[in-house]
Amino acid sequence: MARARILLLNAALGPLDYRVPHDMAVRPGNIVIVPLGPRQLIGVVWEEDAFPGVESVGDNRLRNIIGAVDAPPIPEPLRRLIEWTAHYYLSPPAAVLRMALASMSALEGTRTVIEYRASGTVPTRMTGQRSQAMERIGERQGLIRELAMIGGVSDAVIRGLVKAGAFDAVEVSIDTPFPLPDPDHAPPALSDAQRAAAGTLVEAVGANGFAPFLLDGVTGSGKTEVYFEAIAAALRADRQVLVLLPEIALTEPFLERFEKRFGTAPVNWHSGLRQTERRRAWRAIASGQARVVVGARSALFLPYPRLGLIIVDEAHEASFKQEDGVHYHARDVAVMRGLMETFPVILASATPAIETRHQVELGRYREIKLPSRFGGAEMPAISGVNLLTDPPERGRWIAPPLVKAIDATMAKGEQSLLFLNRRGYAPLTLCRHCGYRFQCPNCTAWMVEHRLTHRLACHHCGHVIPAPRFCPECKEEDSLVACGPGVERIADEVRALWPQARVAIVTSDTLWSPAKAAEFVKSVEAGDIDIIVGTQLVTKGYHFPNLTLVGVIDADLGLEGGDLRASERTFQQIVQVAGRAGRGVKPGQVLIQTRMPEAGVIKALIDGDAERFYAMETESRRRANAPPFGRFAAIIVSSEDSEEAARTARLIGKSAPVVEGLRVYGPAPAPLSVLRGRHRHRLLVHATRTIDVQDIIRAWLDNVVWKAGTRVSVDVDPYSFM
Ligand code: ADP
Ligand code: ZN
Repeated sequence: MARARILLLNAALGPLDYRVPHDMAVRPGNIVIVPLGPRQLIGVVWEEDAFPGVESVGDNRLRNIIGAVDAPPIPEPLRRLIEWTAHYYLSPPAAVLRMALASMSALEGTRTVIEYRASGTVPTRMTGQRSQAMERIGERQGLIRELAMIGGVSDAVIRGLVKAGAFDAVEVSIDTPFPLPDPDHAPPALSDAQRAAAGTLVEAVGANGFAPFLLDGVTGSGKTEVYFEAIAAALRADRQVLVLLPEIALTEPFLERFEKRFGTAPVNWHSGLRQTERRRAWRAIASGQARVVVGARSALFLPYPRLGLIIVDEAHEASFKQEDGVHYHARDVAVMRGLMETFPVILASATPAIETRHQVELGRYREIKLPSRFGGAEMPAISGVNLLTDPPERGRWIAPPLVKAIDATMAKGEQSLLFLNRRGYAPLTLCRHCGYRFQCPNCTAWMVEHRLTHRLACHHCGHVIPAPRFCPECKEEDSLVACGPGVERIADEVRALWPQARVAIVTSDTLWSPAKAAEFVKSVEAGDIDIIVGTQLVTKGYHFPNLTLVGVIDADLGLEGGDLRASERTFQQIVQVAGRAGRGVKPGQVLIQTRMPEAGVIKALIDGDAERFYAMETESRRRANAPPFGRFAAIIVSSEDSEEAARTARLIGKSAPVVEGLRVYGPAPAPLSVLRGRHRHRLLVHATRTIDVQDIIRAWLDNVVWKAGTRVSVDVDPYSFM
């Protein structure tokens, strides 16, 4: 009898065996529908030896596979990648598989919609509206709704015309193919350095082998233009390409540049796609029709059958690390995918992660450098503003030297950018009378005031309350004060100092859609903005030639938490935001406000000495045996019941294995000790590189039992220590 092992799309279940009906043939990778209790579930046929320890059931107890899904199979190398990811990040394979089958609607057979187009028949009864619609629509085809829009009439008018025989119904597959990018549409004239870099990448694409690259070019050096040539080479070789971007906000400028170079936009994959769009993209990706896909990290696990190149742009960004569910790092898994499917992977960054530089030093990744800006633009001059000796006025945050620099920039008709990585108006609201502080009821966090929307919001769980008018504790009115600045408060200060200036606030609150981002770019390019005040959202990707001044409001902010990567993150963020200045012919200037001008990272920034910073930081990691030299894994225990969370964490701590080269710290209450109503405790495992931490943790946790409401998650190579 034929049986098949099937990985179900249900993370709570392991793989299960099913009977293959006589009239059906299945092979590993096939997507099928199977019964589970009274329900039907989607699953993928898997190799039988992939999951040892699956409990075997007698043949007579097996249930039949219900049917096959009409979709291409999950390719073999992707199945291996799914297993590897699940193993490495200690996650259920089904949770990884879910990212590959990211569109349930895509699996529901081919679907069609009915569109209409002119039949050539003129209805006997004509009205003004009818003739207007017919004239404007002409030969065009579309849904009733779309034709009504084109014709400038109501849906009813179009329906009337259909009834009268003026329009014919046409059945259209909603899986219409995407236009193909043309590698020869508009290639740029590359500089010598760019041409050499592109040549190396193009050659690697042609060689069809695994080849990880670090494309390390200063901001404005033209990394995008260079890797576009690698994309062109992959297109000519009939391979698919995936470009990963760290956030959706960067997509809009990317799409435009891509279209200029290749004549059509790439296929865009992100969480905001409508169901039909998601289905169409998934189908085109799985069939190989979608040639270039740009997306956030979730695009990594899609079933490309002919992937020939992955580019991870701004590869140092921490947002490539997923912080819930499967705790994977898209940069690292991208390299693993390149290894398994044998193609080049390009990590592009002006500020590579220490981990990536280390791989270059070990000779595992090849480094390609672009040391100067394109077109002769100079790197901006960076200087520090010592807030201790040159403080701003009371209740203000822009110190006199920065005020002067903005004055001068305004006078020249050029643009300034002020950077503060804090959304909202003020991070804390307190009562001057009784000392009450507004705290989130679900999290260990202050409620952040958002004046634009008149609310206080928790940035961890999203809890919001209307802006309060009196203290809930002592009922005193007019006693509430905002403490500390967010970007909205800096914008207020800017408006007070330069009433004539046109100010844009750029945060995820104001740039919440691609359309908003496009609008922002247009208005800056058109010169309709004098001063931009923004969070890390404005630090990357944008190219505004008339922007010549960057002011960093508080360079020390990122150093406060003091976690493993605090200095590195501060360095990267400030280099990136500084990189927005002087990208055109006009030179740029950067002022960094700090209370610690002597701190190593700040001095390296002011001296423009990246190598010194990297050497210093690498050395301190080496001494602490921290990544990339040693390894970390965090175990996070959470429960709505505070006692239960603490008890389970202690239990896990007590049963920690004794292994040479491995230490366990904790448990201790997490810095974010309550999150979304769950009490959290953390343990940190620190090990040498040679130890198989995953296997040890797996065996360790297998022997601990916890209650149903308690969650224990493992974060391998953690980025967040909160
Ligand atoms: P990076 O990503 O390295 O910061 P970009 O790729 O954004 O740099 O390039 C900076 C600017 O220079 C962009 O406006 C880009 O279009 C332009 N540029 C770079 N290389 C060329 C080239 N060879 N020809 C024309 N424009 C270029
Ligand atoms: Zn909260």
